[in-house]
Amino acid sequence: MFENLREEIRLLNSDVKNVSNSKKAKELRQKLLTIGGILMAIGFGGAFLCFISFALISVSSVNSLTTGFPTQILIPFFLIIPLSVVGGIGSTLTKAGLSIVITGYTSNLVEETVWEKCPNCGDKITKDELFCNKCGRQLRKTCSQCGTVNDPSDNYCKKCGNRL
Ligand SMILES: [Zn+2]
Ligand SMILES: [Zn+2]
Repeated sequence: MFENLREEIRLLNSDVKNVSNSKKAKELRQKLLTIGGILMAIGFGGAFLCFISFALISVSSVNSLTTGFPTQILIPFFLIIPLSVVGGIGSTLTKAGLSIVITGYTSNLVEETVWEKCPNCGDKITKDELFCNKCGRQLRKTCSQCGTVNDPSDNYCKKCGNRL
């Protein structure tokens, strides 16, 4: 199961430049983070509760000096190990989910890095701005035909060939 998952994540991550991959990567990431989070909560939460009840039973049996071994102490004692395993699986799945690179996010980051500062005045700009709001320099050209955003130095639209 983990081998298949690892292979699927490897394929998704090797294909991060493919935008159509983004939806699939996002879905798998969301799924892994949800399932992993639930398993971690049940596993580690349950193991913690078992530890508390184990401690409480030991303390109360010592205090009351009841005769015989408190057999109910075996329940939390034996549950701690399987619950920790469940929590461990959850943490593995969460880590796998976090390792997935999502195309949409990556390309946004690249775009933001490229257009971080106005090339003219150095003012901070966002990726949506067409003109610098400080010096008025044109940052991108939008094609009037198809709406594609082009570089300001382009003369023709990279998508439809319309003269900009
Ligand atoms: Zn500027
Ligand atoms: Zn165009």
